[in-house]
Amino acid sequence: MSVYTDCDWDAGFAAMAPSPAEVEAERLYWQELDRQEHYADHLAAKAEQGADESDGEPEVEPAPAPRKRERIAAYDGLTKSERQALYVPEAYRVERTGPIQFRALNVPTGAEFTVSVIFGRFARVTSNTGREYLLHNGACCCAHKQNGATACKHESATAAVMAVYRQDPIFAELDAEIARRKAEREQQSPALKAA
Ligand SMILES: [Zn+2]
Repeated sequence: MSVYTDCDWDAGFAAMAPSPAEVEAERLYWQELDRQEHYADHLAAKAEQGADESDGEPEVEPAPAPRKRERIAAYDGLTKSERQALYVPEAYRVERTGPIQFRALNVPTGAEFTVSVIFGRFARVTSNTGREYLLHNGACCCAHKQNGATACKHESATAAVMAVYRQDPIFAELDAEIARRKAEREQQSPALKAA
């Protein structure tokens, strides 16, 4: 006998759930990637610091300070202010490349993200370095976010894409349909409503 009934999504999703071992393997994989990314950040920050310290020219008549050129980090070729643009959804230019596929180009930096939207709620973001991130309702769980950042570049690229994609009237219909089904379910099981 099948565990599925016509509308039994919960059972369907439960059957697809990965085993604890798979979850753990996945977690270790991403942890390692994050660690490597952080090490690159650390090296870049150290390089910037070192440059600042050796900048001072001692014992010369103070001349009007020349506009200091921003240092370009070796690991991503960006200056600090360029990197900030990655966190601004409005700084992305979004182009639709398929039914659910988008290219989000961060105009100031040229950084490009490929974003696929699934069910209008999940987004798979691939960065130009080939790394993939899965976002649910616009929220990312990369190391940057886990370290307390209010936003990450994956969220900003996704927000830019959603601003374009979610305008499709189909989403108003889908949201209404989901709300209708939820209300129906609650009506059918008063216990759920009471909970
Ligand atoms: Zn992220």
